[in-house]
Amino acid sequence: MSDTILETEGLTKEFRGFVAVSDVSLRVRRGTIHGLIGPNGAGKTTCFNLLTKFLQPTRGTIRYDGRDITGMKPAEVARLGLVRSFQISAVFPHLTVLENVRLALQRQRGGSFDFWRSETLLRAYDRRACELLEDVGLAGYEGLTAGELPYGRKRALEIATTLALDPVMMLLDEPTAGMAHEDVDRVVALIRRVAAGRTVLLVEHNLRVVQGLCDTITVLTRGRVLAEGDYASVSRNPEVIAAYLGT
Ligand code: ADP
Repeated sequence: MSDTILETEGLTKEFRGFVAVSDVSLRVRRGTIHGLIGPNGAGKTTCFNLLTKFLQPTRGTIRYDGRDITGMKPAEVARLGLVRSFQISAVFPHLTVLENVRLALQRQRGGSFDFWRSETLLRAYDRRACELLEDVGLAGYEGLTAGELPYGRKRALEIATTLALDPVMMLLDEPTAGMAHEDVDRVVALIRRVAAGRTVLLVEHNLRVVQGLCDTITVLTRGRVLAEGDYASVSRNPEVIAAYLGT
């Protein structure tokens, strides 16, 4: 098995002539937490959408686990275990926390919605859903609707629904965006926990979040790779410092 799980070559995305991602070559090692960071407008979200196939690249290739996935659809790559975190808007606010995870499990099994009529299946899904909710620190919240959850806990629910898809590699898009300090610390601890035995690519604006969490960090600015390395090396890099200070 190759040490590299995800690899891009010359990945480029243009929007009507504007180059948002330019010639990005990225290599993510299996079993690591890899951070993709950069100031606003650096191209992180565009990269994320390219990697999870929500956008088609203008040029370049993406390989995942030895396969060329450049032309694949999001659902196809998800079936291969490359799963992005759902956006909060994709968590159903009127369903309970438990129902949201149950739905994600059911989607993963790819079955019809008949499970609503099968008591045995329903109980099996609920057992697994409760385990996942416990894993992400949401035990006790099962009966609340997703909309009633405090903001920081919504991200935990999003991670539980992502885990329901049995990811080999998880892509998380700014999991701590807009959070208070104590919520950030909780989500960082959660990511560390769920990363065990998986590969995680974390798109993040906040350098503090990737510190201590990421084995390798790729810094983007203006669509290009500016630096790559561990936190100590990228945070000392004068070009990275300048990019973050906007100079
Ligand atoms: P980041 O996530 O690092 O803040 P983005 O990937 O969102 O950066 O954006 C990178 C650049 O591409 C920005 O200048 C943004 O305005 C531009 N961009 C992103 N999406 C589109 C789009 N659909 N159409 C035109 N320009 C876009």
